[in-house]
This record gives sequence, structure tokens and C-alpha cells, in this order.
Amino acid sequence: MSQWFAPLAANPAQAGLFTDFDGTLAPIVDAPEEARPVRGAAQTLTILAERLGRVGVISGRPAAFLLRHVGAPKIGLWGLHGLETVEGGQVVSVGATEEWRAAAVATAGRAAQELGPAVDVERKSQGVTLHYRRAPAEAERVRAWAEAAAGATGLVPCPARMSVELRPPIPHGKGQTLEAAAREAGLSAVAFAGDDVGDVAAFDALDRLAAGGAAVVRIGVNSEEAPPELLARADLVLDGPDEVVAAFRELASVLGGGR
Ligand SMILES: [Mg+2]
Repeated sequence: MSQWFAPLAANPAQAGLFTDFDGTLAPIVDAPEEARPVRGAAQTLTILAERLGRVGVISGRPAAFLLRHVGAPKIGLWGLHGLETVEGGQVVSVGATEEWRAAAVATAGRAAQELGPAVDVERKSQGVTLHYRRAPAEAERVRAWAEAAAGATGLVPCPARMSVELRPPIPHGKGQTLEAAAREAGLSAVAFAGDDVGDVAAFDALDRLAAGGAAVVRIGVNSEEAPPELLARADLVLDGPDEVVAAFRELASVLGGGR
């Protein structure tokens, strides 16, 4: 494998490693609530969190879900694309988003009624994700429904792998979250791994950090559903969560984390 980790290993105390969850640490599964990180993922991140300036998971999942499946005291967790984080083991909302909770609850309720049982409605505190992985033929209908719901509520429809998410119309996202976390920790080298359209914004953030002098590593995870732009911009393309965790383990080994 390439020496992808060299910029991080050069100065671990000022290096950060950030990663998406679904499709990056965890294989995509039909029922979203059943997604689990591959073997060794949480342990490897825990080791890296002891040795790097910052390690974090930035995902569209609720922060509570991330806490259950990759939680460890030193791993930064950002859920709902940065609208939630975890402090002292507790999920906290970031930003003034209470007003969108009611819209999210109402929209999720209507989606469950109107879209039928083959569409999985993932309820989030400030949004809702409509998954049509179990019913790919419903893609157009789900997208149209989401557009209409967006028009009615002010939530914003964001497509992702076999799903569409309705998110609050406030500035947030993986790019903004990654950039803020990297700046707050004073990182001079930053890597991010992701597999989906929402992760392109994180690559944009890496570009901004690079313009400020940071060394960056863009890791794209390949799949049949991977956005071409993400892969085209990646410094390193890996073939799924097992390869991602193997690469992270390689970094841990270089840093003295053992295998
Ligand atoms: Mg993903």
C-alpha cells in the first residue's frame, strides 16, 4: 500500500484523522439501523486517538448512534453532519435548531404513512432520512415526495446513497464540521475518509486547509454507488470498510499502536 499516512506520521501530535461512518467504517446494509463497523474499527480509532492530535467520526447518523457503535472518550463524534456532537458522554445539539425538531417529527410521521413499508424512514432529531435501498424502484417517487415535503416544511432535500435526507436549512455539513475541528485542534496534517456525495464537502474543506498550509490526505471509498467526483479527487482510493480499517491499522502500527 502507498505511504498515504506519511503526512500524519511526520508530526502525529498535530495530525488529525477523520472518517465517515456508513460505507466507510461500516458496510452498507439493507436496514440502516443494522449497520455496524467492521471488526477492529473502533479499537483502531481508539488507538489512533491516543497517538494523534485528533481523531473523529463525522456522519449523517445521530450522534447517539455513533456513540453506541464507535464511542470512546478520546474519539470526537459529530452526528447529523455536525448538528450534534458528544461531550462528556452526552449528545449535545450544535446551533439553534430546536425549531426544526417539530418539522422533522411531522415529516417522518407522514413519510412512514405515505411511502409504504418498503421505504425505511430513519428519524433524526432535526431531520429525516428516507432509504429506498430495499425498494430501488421507488427512487423517483421517494425523491419527488421529499421535494414536496421540502417545499411544505422548509427542510432541504439532500440525496445520498439509495436515500434522500431532509435536513434543516441552516449552515452545516461535513466540510464545515471538519474544517472547524481541524482549526480548533491546530492541526497541520489532516486526513478524511468518505464514500458518498456528502463527503465531497469534506474534501472541499481539506482543500481550504491545504490552501492554509496544512498537509491533507483525501481518502475515497469505492463502491458501485461511489460519486465519480469523490474518487477523482481522492489521493487514495480504498475498496470498502475492511480496507479502510486496514489502512488505519497501518497508521496505528507506524505510530507504535501495535496490531
Ligand atoms: Mg457514508
